[in-house]
Amino acid sequence: MTASPLFYQGGTDLPEVSHGQGITLWDTQGKDYLDGCAGAICCNLGHGRQDIRDAMLAQLDRVAFTYRTQFENAPALALGRALVELTGGVLQKVFFVSGGSEAVESALKLARQYVVATGQPQRRRFVSLRPSYHGSTLGALGVTGYHPLEAPFAELTHASLKVPGPDLYRHSDASDEAHIDRVLAETRAAMEAAGPETLIGVVLEPIGGASTGARLLGERYLKGMRTLCDELGCLLILDEVLTGVGRTGAWFAYQHYGVTPDLLATAKGLGAGYYPVGALLARDDIVAAVMESGGFQHGHTYAGNPLACATALAVIEAIRREDLLENARARGAELGAGLRALATRHPWVGDVRGLGLLWGVELVADPVTREPFPAAQQRFAQITALAREEGLLVYPRRTLDGVAGDHFLVTPPLTIGADEVALLLERLGRAMARFERSLEA
Ligand code: PLP
Repeated sequence: MTASPLFYQGGTDLPEVSHGQGITLWDTQGKDYLDGCAGAICCNLGHGRQDIRDAMLAQLDRVAFTYRTQFENAPALALGRALVELTGGVLQKVFFVSGGSEAVESALKLARQYVVATGQPQRRRFVSLRPSYHGSTLGALGVTGYHPLEAPFAELTHASLKVPGPDLYRHSDASDEAHIDRVLAETRAAMEAAGPETLIGVVLEPIGGASTGARLLGERYLKGMRTLCDELGCLLILDEVLTGVGRTGAWFAYQHYGVTPDLLATAKGLGAGYYPVGALLARDDIVAAVMESGGFQHGHTYAGNPLACATALAVIEAIRREDLLENARARGAELGAGLRALATRHPWVGDVRGLGLLWGVELVADPVTREPFPAAQQRFAQITALAREEGLLVYPRRTLDGVAGDHFLVTPPLTIGADEVALLLERLGRAMARFERSLEA
């Protein structure tokens, strides 16, 4: 076999995919895999959907691409309206992009233009959490709190002020509430020390994704951050690239917490793996100020093209029609209970946490001290490989910032059925039993 021309995609040890249907993928050898992580937590409707295919083909038959300066396009307009409706009108304006990093990048640029337009040009810096992941483009990387990704580009990025978020698994405060209050007080102190008049806004994943293994921040923290932003004149920018469009059992994760953002970035599940599409949602007065000051100096060729928007519209319609938010809540509760039951059999499972169909399982070397496994042991990779052998895909990571260590995400498509949750847990249980035997060996 000749060497692959691709770099950083796949690898010699990976099977070649043949096809997918529902929540199952098959490789070219005929082996089946339950897609326990919806690809990269994006294939929210599963694979091989006829309705999405039909909507895409119908749009392809009309026109695939038109440019925003040349034509209005009905799918873009309809998708914009649909997204505003999903926020309950809390955010009224929509800007399309092709992915998560672009959505975050757009939020940062709109926010910067807004503070300049409103006479606050000295506001030049964002605040974000460590650990966090907000994307791989240089702007998004500047707010990302994940050393291995930041380090090579430190001279090229405009780094945000990084503050720790709450860690409800490892804190040693008297209660979760006391911990959150302390984290909020320290965040306020850090922002005040940096000079609030120099800060544009705070960027947050309302529930951590791959960066923290689905660490929940909770209502008290998010409300506290909203208050802090209001008091210090900062924008609250939510990164719902991973949590948006139904993943947590609400259209957007912030809706669980009674907190409203000023700007919101979303992507992944919006195209559900069928087409790359993302969006920045914004308060209309923010957009109006930027428009009045000469317009948003930003844009991408493929943004808001008819095929992307027709796909995303069909995705939203499918979620509505099949009541997949309710399914995410119901199946998510079963999945969470099942993961917790598995955890009781294995002392190296330190924590199981999540909401809807976003679940993280954290692995520890010592359940009492909560000490992570040494990085060199690559435990996250081992358990993922064992799960794959058992016919289950999970999403692995090792968090190198803060004290959290190895974890994996279990985030199946929102379409998963109760019997499939049971099958997922059965396969994961076998992989975990094998992992335990490998620890004993
Ligand atoms: N923000 C969050 C929270 C993410 O999880 C991701 C991707 O994993 C991104 C941003 C970047 O999205 P993309 O990979 O589509 O550029």
